[in-house]
Amino acid sequence: MSSNVRTRFAPSPTGFLHVGGMRTALFAWLVARQGKGQFILRIEDTDQKRKVEGAEEHIIKCLGWLDLVPDEGLKNPIRQSERVKDGVYQKWADKLIESGRAYADPYSPDEVQKFREQAQADKKPFLYRNHRPENPPQWKPGLPLRFKSEPKDYVTHDEVMGDIKTGPEVVDDFILIKADGFPTYNFAHIVDDSEMEISHVIRGQEFIASLPNYRNLYEALDIEPPIFATVPHIMNEQGNKKLSKRDGAKDILDYRNEGYLPETMISFLATLGWNDGTEQETFTIDELIDKFSLARVQKSGARFDERRLIWLNGAHIRQLKLDDLYTYVSPHNDDFIHGAGYWPEAAYKSKYDQAYRKKVLNLVQERLKFFAELPELTGFFFEDLPVNPELISTHKQLKKYDKSELKKYLEKAKASFEGSDFSEADLTDRLNSLLEETGEKPIVLFSLIRIATTQASSSPGLSQTMAVLGKEKCISRINAQISAL
Ligand code: GLU
Repeated sequence: MSSNVRTRFAPSPTGFLHVGGMRTALFAWLVARQGKGQFILRIEDTDQKRKVEGAEEHIIKCLGWLDLVPDEGLKNPIRQSERVKDGVYQKWADKLIESGRAYADPYSPDEVQKFREQAQADKKPFLYRNHRPENPPQWKPGLPLRFKSEPKDYVTHDEVMGDIKTGPEVVDDFILIKADGFPTYNFAHIVDDSEMEISHVIRGQEFIASLPNYRNLYEALDIEPPIFATVPHIMNEQGNKKLSKRDGAKDILDYRNEGYLPETMISFLATLGWNDGTEQETFTIDELIDKFSLARVQKSGARFDERRLIWLNGAHIRQLKLDDLYTYVSPHNDDFIHGAGYWPEAAYKSKYDQAYRKKVLNLVQERLKFFAELPELTGFFFEDLPVNPELISTHKQLKKYDKSELKKYLEKAKASFEGSDFSEADLTDRLNSLLEETGEKPIVLFSLIRIATTQASSSPGLSQTMAVLGKEKCISRINAQISAL
């Protein structure tokens, strides 16, 4: 069945993609998949001053990481700058000039600034159209070309925001083509969306105030407007302002590099401002294709809560099969996963094989929230860390004990472990017997043994950890702790 749903993601290559841009892309992709239509990538690079080298490749990498593959614009990128060369926008601009709906703007920026200041002094809103030149010069390249608006009332339907009523006072003359010959976003996107037969324009909130102007231009160009869907801002954690770099708006690929799963990112982005009406927090991509709807995107800003992202990722990691998790954290050539892998360097010493690393991974899977935590969580499985006296001196319970007493406990423990086969079951029995023999609480005795054998303040279950470490390491580390006490 062919469909006429066509959505687009139209980023400007001006820097890295963050959650806001990525969420817009996801929503547009979902609407295309739902409608069995096409998702188009268009690079809006008409602002030459803001163009950043490598940004286009970065955008493509981000889409690839989340598998939001464009149906058009990937193999043959659609770049507005190239369409400028092909004369696409000029053709439409000429139409407007001919119909008397565009004029050469004769003012210098200083003159416009004066108009603006005058309006301010008069306490009136500034409108370009109040300063239309009576006899504008003939337009020629090098002069800005301005749209001649026909102000009127509009009711604009937006799939997310509902019906937006506006009056003529918000319709104004705006620049279509800049002095440098490049079209403005306001002009170019309308031409492109029309030529590319885009059915749904899904974009961020920053463009909502311009909708009446766009309506006016659609009319002047005799173009049927698409369906509009305005996605609200992503707010900082406090919900009081738009998320910025300072609030932790990171490059999407940073999350990939830190070891977030694409599935997590998809669920997280989808639920930033959208829900299916239930409490469900994680959705597979197929569930989203099934359930997502623009009508259920909330109108107000969605709060960015990185802790929720971390929690979601931990939940996804726990669900992975051990072998899959192992593949994710190991070095490999897949560009969409951190190529170098996440293990601490020591994990590749010759004495450690894959079976050992898998055992370690199995133990930490429960607690791993993103892959970059792996060295911190597993370092002691691969190397003897120096005895850190602070682990005892700052421990709530252990700090109350005499060193000689702690030494005595460790000697006892060592004697018992020396007779163990180091199976988890035997270690558990021995640890429990030690509790009985010493009359100590687990928080004291087990913490002490944990610190001695790992030099870490936390670890997976003690007997499991010791079983993986093995007898030799455990005994020698207990010895080191005893000597240091
Ligand atoms: N190039 C615009 C931006 O990156 C895209 C807006 C749109 O989707 O129309 O903000």
